Amino acid sequence: MEMTIRPRRLRNGARLRKMVRETRMDPSSLIYPMFVKEGDVAAEEIPTMPGQYRYSLDGMERQLDALLAAGVNSVMLFGIPDHKDEMGSGAWDENGIIQKALRRIKKEYRDELYVITDVCMCEYTSHGHCGMLCGHEVDNDRTLDLLSKTALSHIQAGADMVAPSDMMDGRVRAIRETLDENGFQTAPIMSYAVKYASAFYGPFRDAAGSAPSFGDRKGYQMDYHNSREGIKEALLDVEEGADIIMVKPAMSYLDIVTKVRDVVNVPVAAYSVSGEYAMVKAGAAMGYIDEDKIICETAVAAYRAGCDMYLTYYAPEIAKFMKEGRIG
Ligand SMILES: [Zn+2]
Repeated sequence: MEMTIRPRRLRNGARLRKMVRETRMDPSSLIYPMFVKEGDVAAEEIPTMPGQYRYSLDGMERQLDALLAAGVNSVMLFGIPDHKDEMGSGAWDENGIIQKALRRIKKEYRDELYVITDVCMCEYTSHGHCGMLCGHEVDNDRTLDLLSKTALSHIQAGADMVAPSDMMDGRVRAIRETLDENGFQTAPIMSYAVKYASAFYGPFRDAAGSAPSFGDRKGYQMDYHNSREGIKEALLDVEEGADIIMVKPAMSYLDIVTKVRDVVNVPVAAYSVSGEYAMVKAGAAMGYIDEDKIICETAVAAYRAGCDMYLTYYAPEIAKFMKEGRIG
């Protein structure tokens, strides 16, 4: 008689299922994206991202305390300046919002928190594009200087790592050289290497006030029809000196996470963006889905696809589910 192969044997009971899990995760791999703004209002809720806020420096501290209590030790900071101009000069201003936030965090938290900063121009330019304009086009090579200056000012103010998100060609090399020349050889770069032009960024643009005033970002962010191009971007950035490669967004791009994971020998991060968060929130508010279960399933899917680190607005919730042993 033929013996029946019984995969169900290993699904028999919660203890065994947990023992044979293929995907293991830990809160140390979670990174919480956070918006910091000028002004006295401690926390302004972002209408399109319920539960997420723009924080003043005081409000930021309260949220950082909450994150640490939840077991999240890493953040990605985005700055929302009061003042924007054509060049985006607030990005590298010594007294810019990010630089002030960094000095405050390093003073108050020392090594308790690992702080990564987003490096881009779009929150600081009056036109909302990710670089310096020449006519209606972003001038790639002139933008590299601005990005390098910005990255250097973040590291000087206390950032542990910088994460350029602009998608200009050659920016990882330019930033690496600038950091090295200034004695910051040990400061790592996480490159938003594979960043798609995506409608999933919609709520973030409300949050950061960074929607382009004309045109779109398809001249520098990637076309979502392409995956080989993602490999090309990832390999180029590793060659230029990126220490970590990011894929963004996450949920609709898990095939890309897997492919990038297979070809690079550096850690891979996936960024679950504002639109992913907003959809889950909206679905849960309507009573159509179970928010906690969806959070768990989407997070595990990202790690199963191959990411080593996960950037998500749900970081505190996921850390809790990991600690409870519900996932991970
Ligand atoms: Zn940008």
